[in-house]
Amino acid sequence: MNNLRNQSNPKINLVSGMRPTGKLHLGHYLGVLQNWVDLQKSQKYNCYFMLADWHSLTTKYEDTGLIGKSIIEITRDFLACGLDPDESTIYIQSHVPEIAELHLLLSMITPNNWAERDPTLKDLVRASNQDETNLTYGMLGYPILQTSDILIFKGSAVPVGKDQTAHLEISREIARRFNYIFKKEFFADPKPLFTETPLIMGIDGTKMGKSFNNDIKISATEEETINSVKKMITDPQRIKRTDAGNTEECKVPFPYYKIFADADTCKTVKFECETAKRGCIDCKKQLADLINAKFAIIRAKRQNFSDAEIIEILKAGSRKARQKAQDNLKQIRAIMKLNYFDKV
Ligand code: SF4
Repeated sequence: MNNLRNQSNPKINLVSGMRPTGKLHLGHYLGVLQNWVDLQKSQKYNCYFMLADWHSLTTKYEDTGLIGKSIIEITRDFLACGLDPDESTIYIQSHVPEIAELHLLLSMITPNNWAERDPTLKDLVRASNQDETNLTYGMLGYPILQTSDILIFKGSAVPVGKDQTAHLEISREIARRFNYIFKKEFFADPKPLFTETPLIMGIDGTKMGKSFNNDIKISATEEETINSVKKMITDPQRIKRTDAGNTEECKVPFPYYKIFADADTCKTVKFECETAKRGCIDCKKQLADLINAKFAIIRAKRQNFSDAEIIEILKAGSRKARQKAQDNLKQIRAIMKLNYFDKV
């Protein structure tokens, strides 16, 4: 990683973000936020964490009414989970318009088929159920906008799960193409920073997702959590309380035990389930208690931030991000010889 650092600032620029499309769930906490907090604590990175409101328009351009509220709620989740605006730059994508200008400039040098074959685009199209033959221009440009998000801060570390390695490929190709065309090693290769991302099941046994109505929110009340856990799919072969269960076939609760309980508890649950000494109702009650205990502090911390304070934090973070983006964009324009009248 040392080659990613420069002399004046020994820290690596790290960029990541989330779309403001509703409150965050346990999957976000376990798969992303915990990791962001660890990266922040490591002191190795200049962390840029973005509320990607423009990205949410690629699929929800007709439905913008809740973006503002979502930005506040997600930021509240960020702060409660441990992101610190004094340590990390937390900002709103659209408050850094230099990202849009870089998007336009990089669009000029990016072959169309690079965007079309990009797996990020394919995943997005699949998730949004859009017609692949009738994509919007904004959707097609999604991988280039994502690249601009990273390169505007000369980001060289991007936290991703192992299954997302290919998503960064187009960003690397665009960075290299820019350097090649304008004969300057300006952008470093954005490199994936691999993170262990456990697959978090929704309560219905499919992947947890905001839009699938199968999630448990970080901000859920204890009661809401208990009700969600009650609905979790268990071992489908276990019909009666007296039937012995099989924890390997238990679709949701037992995998959650593996995440939220210690090894001894998991062992006890396995033994009691497989000898019919515990029923699913009691088992779920215990699981809900574990989840509620795990999130009690975070949920309490969420109450510490008023909407007004969060807006101030976001404005300050966006100003800081914008300053850096402006400095970098000025250099990019100069490298592209677009600074015609700067000295006039
Ligand atoms: S007792 Fe627990 S582990 Fe066993 S099937 Fe029921 S919910 Fe799953």
